[in-house]
Amino acid sequence: MLTNAPKGTKDMLPEHAYKWQYIEKAFAEICRKYGFEEIRTPMFEHTELFQRGVGDTTDIVQKEMYSFQDYGKRNITLKPEGTSPVVRAYVEHKMFAGVQPNKFYYNIPCFRYEKPQSGRLRQFHQFGVETFGSADMMADAEVIAIGYDFLKEMGITNIELRINSVGCPQCRKKHREALRAFLEPKYDQLCDTCKERYNTNPMRILDCKSPIDQELVKGAPMMLDYLCDDCSQAFDDLKKNLDSFDIEYKVDSKIVRGLDYYTKTAFEFVTEKIGAQGTVCGGGRYDGLVEEVGGPSTPGVGWGMGKERLLLTMEACGFQIPESAGADVFIAVMGDEAKAAGLKLMKELRQKGVSCQMDVMGRNIKNQFKFANRIQAGRTVVIGQDELENNSFTIKDMETSEQITVPMENIVEALTK
Ligand code: ATP
Ligand code: MG
Repeated sequence: MLTNAPKGTKDMLPEHAYKWQYIEKAFAEICRKYGFEEIRTPMFEHTELFQRGVGDTTDIVQKEMYSFQDYGKRNITLKPEGTSPVVRAYVEHKMFAGVQPNKFYYNIPCFRYEKPQSGRLRQFHQFGVETFGSADMMADAEVIAIGYDFLKEMGITNIELRINSVGCPQCRKKHREALRAFLEPKYDQLCDTCKERYNTNPMRILDCKSPIDQELVKGAPMMLDYLCDDCSQAFDDLKKNLDSFDIEYKVDSKIVRGLDYYTKTAFEFVTEKIGAQGTVCGGGRYDGLVEEVGGPSTPGVGWGMGKERLLLTMEACGFQIPESAGADVFIAVMGDEAKAAGLKLMKELRQKGVSCQMDVMGRNIKNQFKFANRIQAGRTVVIGQDELENNSFTIKDMETSEQITVPMENIVEALTK
């Protein structure tokens, strides 16, 4: 127990770090190109924020949150998703009063009490982007485009963009009535969760994962047939903008974000390459959310992408993430005087940006060379009594085994070349 990480969590070990660093760097870089700026919010928030911002009727709020009371009797929740905290920060810092749009990106851990399986953890990690202040479908197309381009850059093929519109509170009302009427005779066959959804949020039944429910909703009235003129125009605009961005998509009326503050655009990037948990990225427009959290009515659109699922998909697509190189230089020393000279040299090399290591385990010279091989040092410098007396050091290229002798005053130059 003590030596096992809690169920649904994973250590990121040094041998995998390069992969995470690679995707994080690439994500920050693409965000820079698209003009999204980084935002960091606390690891935990007031529970009420998620009750409002994610929605009381959602699985997340009903059964997945890591919530507790702190010693000050405040109800606190580890963040299960990234959008509500960013909305909270946007309102708290009155960013709505500045020049719009505000475009943010984040890179966060998320916590959800779920059944752990491949691609589903209790602590997982997300990239996300959000645009605030624009009601133009160009903003939706742009957040989709950054996801699309990023997935492509990460070597992912065979991923499908599925788009839908969930309308607005006005047109959704009519659809909700029609959907309830359609499902009423099938109510008893619905799964327990969907029986509840029937009352609270029937649209979510459409994306229930149970195969029985999937069968039951076949032929159900679809939101796209109920869109008001404004929402219908917006969906056409979205498609036109995606065409201009040269982005392929499929309309899928089962993609839903069934809360009142989610509006119009809903989308997912789905792959069949990583098994059942195939949604790598999901997002949409949330024109009612800023207001719900206490700010002025402000449109917004964004997405969240699971980093574990991203990495699984990259692997499944055979993308080779370049491994980080070993140390540039290892300094092997014999004797105390050599050690002092080595330390001085190591300090200078590190200052010049060279990654450099020395033995700290009291190894003899033979074992120092063995260690240099293990850490894949590019070159090894040897300093012993002879070298000190002759004022010159030997540099060995660890790949070719070629050796050269360099006068002490030129050693740094030789090793930074
Ligand atoms: P799913 O349908 O797979 O449960 P979701 O609709 O709950 O996903 P979102 O809340 O939209 O997911 O989160 C965005 C992304 O975060 C998902 O597309 C997925 O890649 C990732 N994600 C969500 N939950 C988990 C989890 N428990 N473990 C790993 N990744 C997750
Ligand atoms: Mg989920």
